[in-house]
Amino acid sequence: MMFWTLRWRLLISYLSVIVAILGISIITVYEFFAYRLYQKLDNQMITLADAAAHSLLIIKDDPKAVGRRIPRNLDYDEDLDIPWQDLQKNHQAVEWFDANGQLLGNAGRYIPQLPFDANVKTSQNKNIRSVIIPVYSASFIPERKRLQGYVRVSESTENLQEELDTLMWGFSGGGLIAVILSGIGSWWLTKQSLKPIEQSFQQLKQFTADASHELRSPLTVVKTSVQVMSNHSERFHPKDQKKLKAIACATDQMTRLVEDLLLLARTNATVTPTFEWISIPLDELLEDVVDLLQLQAEVKGIVLKLEISEQVYVKGNPIQIKRLFSNLVENALQYTSIGGTVTVSVLRRERFVFVSVNDTGIGIAPEHISLVFNRFWRADKARSCREGGSGLGLAIAQAIAQTHKGEITVKSQVGVGSCFQVRLRATSQ
Ligand code: ADP
Repeated sequence: MMFWTLRWRLLISYLSVIVAILGISIITVYEFFAYRLYQKLDNQMITLADAAAHSLLIIKDDPKAVGRRIPRNLDYDEDLDIPWQDLQKNHQAVEWFDANGQLLGNAGRYIPQLPFDANVKTSQNKNIRSVIIPVYSASFIPERKRLQGYVRVSESTENLQEELDTLMWGFSGGGLIAVILSGIGSWWLTKQSLKPIEQSFQQLKQFTADASHELRSPLTVVKTSVQVMSNHSERFHPKDQKKLKAIACATDQMTRLVEDLLLLARTNATVTPTFEWISIPLDELLEDVVDLLQLQAEVKGIVLKLEISEQVYVKGNPIQIKRLFSNLVENALQYTSIGGTVTVSVLRRERFVFVSVNDTGIGIAPEHISLVFNRFWRADKARSCREGGSGLGLAIAQAIAQTHKGEITVKSQVGVGSCFQVRLRATSQ
């Protein structure tokens, strides 16, 4: 589960970076192409406007031409001017204006109705692009040059936009293929790169399980021997009896630690429902847990109660689930002082069941909340042997909850109490 999540996270990070780089590159290349194409179009239109400027004086001097459509060949003076209209494409238009911006004539099959503004040299109006150039009378003396009028060339940019759209589609398709291929590649890479870590993690887990297992037998021998020796305390000096008690206590603590480590190493969160998983009546299981710890609660002067109104079933390993709730209730009893209350309550909501273990104990400081599920973490590091606890109780509880596709959350307030809530999937028996 842990490595699976890690692999997904890595993949998502890789893909986000790839998509960002690819997106920025595509947009940059597209914008560059669009800029170049529009620049080329503007240059072509300026060339055409220059060619048409030559005809401005003829149109001005021909009263019949004013405000009209200009005939195909303007070469009235028969000096073999280029019939510039032949240069025009279907979607181009040329308009001639006098110095006051009055339309003198136009040519082309496609005349856009655009307002005249001599100050805007190049303009884009929806899908029509226009350039305006001023036309001056020819003179070698600059002061004698006089503004004769303007020529405006307009062209539809539909074809150009189509080209750009095709380019964008090409880029998008190529980008998508690149992202899919990168996704497959990244998945393979993350799998390969995590393999050694996964292997060493499994080996470490196996080692912990083996070592814990192997430590059990010698510990049992020590424990039994100490018990036998304690039964004959009269044989020992009173000072040695104290040492014997310390050995017994340390042995108990070590046994608990070894058991916890073994359980943690064996609780594999990748485990999917197995044949060991059965339908568990949660109400009965929690009653057992509460009954078992009732004596401990009474000894400590704490009220321990269970609040459950309906029968709820969960699927899983009953021994593990029992251990999960025992750990939480034991902790609640451990960190609540005389006169306090520990309440176990069950709430069913749709497909889930929420079991809360509330206590009126010492609470957990806000900066410690995120640490409580860490292995071997304890708020009070210098706990004595008698107070027990290996610092693995909550880590075990969390591992069991995750194995059962659930989760544990905690809310706490120092001096007020804590609430550990376990969410599990409810089943219909
Ligand atoms: P331990 O064996 O020390 O109880 P756990 O993993 O069960 O180990 O708990 C880790 C630490 O979280 C505890 O040492 C304690 O500081 C804190 N803790 C857990 N449960 C509670 C609780 N109900 N109230 C206050 N503190 C708690």
